[in-house]
Amino acid sequence: LLTADGLDFRYGALPVFTEVSLSIRRREIVALLGGSGCGKSTLLRVLAGLESPSAGQVRFLDQPLERPHPRSALIFQHASLLPWLRVEANAAFGLDFRHQPAIAAGVRQSRVREALAAVGLAGREHAWPAELSGGQAQRVALARALAREPELLFADEPFSALDAITRAEMQNLLVDVVHRWHAAVLLVTHDIDEAILVADRILLMGGRPGGILAEWTVDVPRPREDHPGAVTALRLEI
Ligand code: ATP
Ligand code: MG
Repeated sequence: LLTADGLDFRYGALPVFTEVSLSIRRREIVALLGGSGCGKSTLLRVLAGLESPSAGQVRFLDQPLERPHPRSALIFQHASLLPWLRVEANAAFGLDFRHQPAIAAGVRQSRVREALAAVGLAGREHAWPAELSGGQAQRVALARALAREPELLFADEPFSALDAITRAEMQNLLVDVVHRWHAAVLLVTHDIDEAILVADRILLMGGRPGGILAEWTVDVPRPREDHPGAVTALRLEI
């Protein structure tokens, strides 16, 4: 789905990472784990097409990536909802950009409503962002990403501002919805428990300048789309 080959990135004279090569397969959840300042967010931004690498190439869906792709989506630590738009309009906000294929109004509304229902916000379409908790706001951000029907979701520490219970709910929700949407995920996190719970594969980033130091496949049993009940069971235990 995505391959990166020989990526270097520098801010002026400051090298952030060098010689990074990796790939993400369709529907795979990959965690990018590493300490603060090692370059995880920068690498995510390069892989998402928000920044150009100083050297190397990113390919997405067999094409060189030059800008954020319509079949990708992003979520960050903060939901960044627009306070003057209701929940439904905020969730639709990722659909209106240049290079984004136009969508018929009816299709658009059903996509947005389906995404909101999947994140547990059916019935809250007309609420204002100020009426939501932090966890609910992050659910809207996830719905906004899903409405784009992404092949690949980039998530930069999406749950690190949430309390432990909400975070656990959101981790399970993320796995559940990306399986239902057949999307792959690159999840940046510095929480190793989160990486083990959510990811199929973990990349460890570190060093100066940064690089991928190690890689593991996660093969512990955990909730899967063919066992939807397990997600609920895990959530109730907490
Ligand atoms: P954290 O876990 O704290 O989010 P990170 O691994 O995501 O850290 P980055 O945000 O990618 O790290 O930053 C990597 C390095 O690049 C850091 O040394 C940072 O100071 C530097 N850096 C980040 N953004 C810029 C910028 N706009 N200009 C110059 N240097 C930057
Ligand atoms: Mg970061």
